[in-house]
Amino acid sequence: MDHWLGLAALPVLTDEQARAYETARADSRSHALARMTMTVAGFYLIYALIDVLILEDVVWLSLTLRFGLMLPMALALGWYQSGRKRSIRAKEIATIGVAMTGNLVWCMVLAASDNPAALHYYYAAAIFQMVVTIALRPGFDLALWASLGTAAINYGMIGLINGVDGTYLFYHLAVYVPTLVLTLVASHQLEVERQRAFLQLHENEALKRELSRQNDALMRLSTTDPLTQLPNRRGTEAEIARLRRILKPHELDASALLIVDIDHFKAFNDAYGHGAGDECLKQVAQAMRQELPATVHLARLGGEEFIAVLPGAEPARTGMLAERLRRAVSSLGIAHDHTGDRNAHVTVSVGAACGSIATDLALSQLFEAADGALYAVKADGRNGWRLAPSVSEPPQSDAA
Ligand code: GH3
Ligand code: MG
Ligand code: MG
Repeated sequence: MDHWLGLAALPVLTDEQARAYETARADSRSHALARMTMTVAGFYLIYALIDVLILEDVVWLSLTLRFGLMLPMALALGWYQSGRKRSIRAKEIATIGVAMTGNLVWCMVLAASDNPAALHYYYAAAIFQMVVTIALRPGFDLALWASLGTAAINYGMIGLINGVDGTYLFYHLAVYVPTLVLTLVASHQLEVERQRAFLQLHENEALKRELSRQNDALMRLSTTDPLTQLPNRRGTEAEIARLRRILKPHELDASALLIVDIDHFKAFNDAYGHGAGDECLKQVAQAMRQELPATVHLARLGGEEFIAVLPGAEPARTGMLAERLRRAVSSLGIAHDHTGDRNAHVTVSVGAACGSIATDLALSQLFEAADGALYAVKADGRNGWRLAPSVSEPPQSDAA
């Protein structure tokens, strides 16, 4: 049932949500509770003036109890409320306890007075009902218990007030009961709204997490080649951008690229079919991936071409990794009887270049250099690697 007498029902929270709700409200509620306690305590002490004006026969009792008992209790309560480790519920219970003690003390002062004005003053009992519900704003269940407690105090003590009879009790109830019901309704609605706002926030946060998870999945998908599961060209661009963020300039300037191209792959496709071609691409990709350290980025550039990015790699290490890739593919021994050369299995040619990846211009020059070296390997008979010559170094090669 969503509504009862026009009241919205409390949302049903799971255990986990209920715990999160208590944690989420703890901080803001702690401050609000402390501020409201000071306000209520201030009112309570100022009301000593009313006792002085109306109940002159119990002024000393009133002042003694208000300032000698209730003020120290309020101060102790302030200390208790400031404890960061205490739960908000414990603080609310303590605050209501002190408010109810204040209520009892007030009843005792009025009961001690012979002044007939105490009868009018006793209507103010309804204020304590307001304090424990809409002023202190505890959770609805606490507000309900506190209301029953204050009602028990006020009507337990009413018989001790001078001059109370049945008619007076009737008038008093006529004021008190609607106050009790209406403040409890307000407390209930407040709790519903608090919990709904919390759930809304909780849901928004769950949605945000889901959205970010889907974003990550989408990002992975858009940067991954579906056939080989290696990163694609976009993945390489993202990796270069990442390296530019995390590496120092001298490391970026001492990098290397390897471009790997499967030899006679068109002939392989033509002879064995596209499916076998795909399978070959997968095996070649896997073999090369296993050969390289995990920190080296290897991607499928497109078609039967791959690229490896080696940050901080000097020529000797670049050549060694190029040779390892060549050998790893060759040792797969994937039969290829249509190479037109002396190799009867699938091989790759590798073009390598050492230089800077710090800027787009430097990167494209490095890429061109590696591509030129690859072209040279192809022209030289394939199944080999070559390091592009740089200004300071002569060309090295190891064509098999
Ligand atoms: P070279 O030794 O000079 O590199 O000759 P090649 O035949 O390997 O080079 P070419 O560029 O002429 O042919 C590349 C072939 O790669 C053409 C195309 O059929 C094949 N290819 C490109 N992408 C795919 C793919 O995703 N799957 C398959 N099975 N084949 C592909
Ligand atoms: Mg090619
Ligand atoms: Mg090729």
